Amino acid sequence: MTEKTLGFDTLQVHAGTEPDPATGARQVPIYQTTAYVFRDADHAAKLFNLEEVGYIYSRLTNPTVAALQNRIAALEGGAGAICCSSGHAAQIMALFPLMAPGRNIVASTRLYGGTLTQFTQTFKRFGWTAKLVDFDDFDAVRAAIDEDTRAIFCESLANPTGAIMDLDALGEIAGNHGVPLVVDNTSATPYLCNPIRHGATLVVHSTTKYLTGNGTVMGGAIVDSGTFDWSASDKFPSLSEPEPAYHGLDFHETFGSLAFTFHGIAVGLRDLGMTMNPQAAHYTLLGIETLSLRMARHVQNAREIASWLDGDDRIESVTYSGLPASPYHDRMTRICPRGAGGLFTVALKDGYDACVEAVSKLKLFSHVANLGDTRSLVIHPASTTHRQLEEAEQIKAGAAPNVLRLSIGIEDANDLIADLDQALG
Ligand SMILES: *Cc1c(COP(=O)(O)O)cnc(C)c1O
Repeated sequence: MTEKTLGFDTLQVHAGTEPDPATGARQVPIYQTTAYVFRDADHAAKLFNLEEVGYIYSRLTNPTVAALQNRIAALEGGAGAICCSSGHAAQIMALFPLMAPGRNIVASTRLYGGTLTQFTQTFKRFGWTAKLVDFDDFDAVRAAIDEDTRAIFCESLANPTGAIMDLDALGEIAGNHGVPLVVDNTSATPYLCNPIRHGATLVVHSTTKYLTGNGTVMGGAIVDSGTFDWSASDKFPSLSEPEPAYHGLDFHETFGSLAFTFHGIAVGLRDLGMTMNPQAAHYTLLGIETLSLRMARHVQNAREIASWLDGDDRIESVTYSGLPASPYHDRMTRICPRGAGGLFTVALKDGYDACVEAVSKLKLFSHVANLGDTRSLVIHPASTTHRQLEEAEQIKAGAAPNVLRLSIGIEDANDLIADLDQALG
């Protein structure tokens, strides 16, 4: 019985964990410790040289966090994973080994609002640029790639509209240009979509959302497919050449398919310090145990509610890719065969003011800047998450002023429909 042959429902409960070797504790203990005693000076030296894998200091590695890393890697079909303090930290950590001043990424216009801000504003301070293009226009994606491009970045199921990206086509474009495809799989989760099977090199997550599932802790993860040849060109010297930040170690030569994972821990976490704490890892491990059950219910409820909204005359449009009339419906059956998730937007005929009013009248839906909770959530992106963007950029990101984003929870769908009905006035 190897992990490769086990089903998703089994892996989400068992992968990466076993009874605690010291105590037999069945649940993964919260290893609330900063440091670990070295057996002797030789052991310490081997650990620091990465000749032996073990625990040194919890900024780098911690057994509770390691269990979560292994579980997420197993669910995504990756070679390894690195957990960190938030989804935004995961994005920086994913790009850090690939980038340098003057380099760029080509990224989708359909991204989480906070990601757009991180990419277009904060990246500049590192000397990085993000070229934003419509990822349904493959010629535009190809045209944007240049000598300095080091990654292609998109969301599998885009926040906030639930648009689905053609990962197979994007993976092929990335491959033809010798750069990795990095996919944010937060809204889909590995239950609905496995980006690595569709050509992704790296998968990033905000574990804050569906993986934890109940709005308790912040976290992020980067999954390394282990399939990219970092030495095929001279584009990725941190991985394929002696790394000055780690006494000249050549990560690709030394660790092969785990080069990115080891670099992420030994250099990324060590120097950027965006570490996940063991308490957060514990909550996320608990959440993941029921991921498939929750996602199936999120999808079922979202489908029902999106269909109801679609037929209501107060509504201008609904973006849910799970609706048969959606332009993304065919792509869904290939990329997200188990359903289009629990997140979509709805445009109200009565515009910005009607959105603000609906948000204030909803009772079961909580007005929060979060998604992927067991509770249903609502937000008006134009006045919150996408507020910093110009109106044209808001529209491009699917967050026009008359649009509400719904994150459908696992409650009774009839109750959620009744709540929306009264709030739409
Ligand atoms: C929330 C979110 C992020 C950022 O994650 P944090 O954990 O809030 O830092 C990134 N991408 C997507 C798609 C998200 O929904």
